[in-house]
Amino acid sequence: MKVNSIIWLRRDLRLYDNAALFHALKNSDQVFTVFIFDTHILNKLKNKKDRRIEFILKSLKEIKENLNKQGSDLIIEKGEPETLIPNLIKEYKCDSLYINRDYEAYAQERDNSITEILSKKQVKTFAFKDQVLFECDEILTQSNKPYTVFTPYKNNHLKKLNEEGIDLYKCEDHKSNFAKFTHKPLPSIEELSFEKTNLEELDLPTGTSGGKKLLEKFYKNIKIYSKSRNYPAVRGVSYLSVHNRFGTLSIRHLAKMAIEADNDGASTWLSELIWRDFYFQIIANFPHVSKNKSFKPQFENLQFENDEKKFEAWKNGLTGFPIIDAAMKQINQTGYMHNRLRMIVSSFLVKDLLIDWRWGEQYFQDNLIDFDFSANNGGWQWAASTGCDSQPYFRIFNPILQSEKFDKDGLFIKKYLPQLEPLSSKQIHQPWMHFEKNTDTFPIKLGEDYPFPIIDHSEQRDKALAMYKACK
Ligand SMILES: Cc1cc2nc3c(=O)[nH]c(=O)nc-3n(C[C@H](O)[C@H](O)[C@H](O)COP(=O)(O)OP(=O)(O)OC[C@H]3O[C@@H](n4cnc5c(N)ncnc54)[C@H](O)[C@@H]3O)c2cc1C
Repeated sequence: MKVNSIIWLRRDLRLYDNAALFHALKNSDQVFTVFIFDTHILNKLKNKKDRRIEFILKSLKEIKENLNKQGSDLIIEKGEPETLIPNLIKEYKCDSLYINRDYEAYAQERDNSITEILSKKQVKTFAFKDQVLFECDEILTQSNKPYTVFTPYKNNHLKKLNEEGIDLYKCEDHKSNFAKFTHKPLPSIEELSFEKTNLEELDLPTGTSGGKKLLEKFYKNIKIYSKSRNYPAVRGVSYLSVHNRFGTLSIRHLAKMAIEADNDGASTWLSELIWRDFYFQIIANFPHVSKNKSFKPQFENLQFENDEKKFEAWKNGLTGFPIIDAAMKQINQTGYMHNRLRMIVSSFLVKDLLIDWRWGEQYFQDNLIDFDFSANNGGWQWAASTGCDSQPYFRIFNPILQSEKFDKDGLFIKKYLPQLEPLSSKQIHQPWMHFEKNTDTFPIKLGEDYPFPIIDHSEQRDKALAMYKACK
């Protein structure tokens, strides 16, 4: 008797080096590939011009075309997976479901409930590690506890990577087992109740082919990554986060390439990939962080001012601090923000504007194309000093010094705030200082062309320190 299976793609939108797909193809005679636009997730997206939907759709188009070339197809449905998956299993007479494990709270609940529904119908679910290099129980301290500090975690992670090596799953060896059939055409973005975005204007190619193009470009300069990664005006980082988010590239493939490059820049880049694993194990081992809680309980009740007007100014890039405003324009216009800037704007929101880190976390969640709960929560709690291995609470970024150091000539600022083009490298980091000294000759009109600063950094710094000390 023929064995039929479903491979359900979720955040692993690729047909190469995919653990669940490999095992499905190897162990079945006919594999049906499925993607579901999950309405539990879609219904929560307020912005109908969500770049993520377009990114997913374009990436699915590539998968569908590849499957079509092999006489197979991609089944795309919209609805609730707990109803759709059992129905598809029945319709295609399948004996098993193959998935890659997902570590977010909602996904775990969903997968547990579907596994249970299917097991009652004698259908087995096979789940695999694919999204990470090592899962939450694979890298533990000597006393078998999860790590909460990155450096020893990383050392142990690297040791294990070195001992085990990295093998890629050769899905292509079993591709003749994709079921031969045709399904409905790809839905349009409107059929999904969303609208077209500006994704095509951005330098962000989609699908596995797009990810590979970006990787190739980055790999040529990987050796200088340790230095170039801090400067948002230069192309020093990989811009692969959205591909890591949706699994259009495989994390094993990226880590293997970093190891093979064997240079200082590649080792630093590998560390960033390990940060990704680190935060995945944090959400799995410390579930309270997924419930809107601080990792460190003593900072649960920080008395934030939560001024709505200041939050609006931060969101819209109208704080009067050029580096903050340019960074916020970047996320608003592209859905991406450079890591150095994510660190600066998050610190500014929490420790200068005295606004709850969760407000910023939610804003990033709504607007980042690469939003990943684990890295985002980890990043925000790091900046707010509420997280594991976070900034000490008394370390407060000075947005002007950060700007002078990491965007010395204001090239990044000018890209997103063209009205500041006439300012010199000296004037651009804190225009108000120079404007006050020389109002008549200053090249722009502060208050009209660009706002005055909404806060005084040193005053706010003192307030932030007092706020944290009150919780110690
Ligand atoms: C407040 C804040 C929020 C963040 N939110 C997210 C988020 O929602 N999604 C997200 O992927 N990253 C997030 N990061 C981490 C980091 O900023 C982005 O991963 C990075 O900027 C993506 O750009 P890149 O792909 O060019 O990175 P590269 O520098 O090329 O790094 C390579 C890959 O490593 C991973 N990575 C890098 N830095 C980190 C990190 N600190 N934590 C976890 N993984 C990392 C990413 O997958 C990234 O694609 C956040 C950081 C902060 C400070």
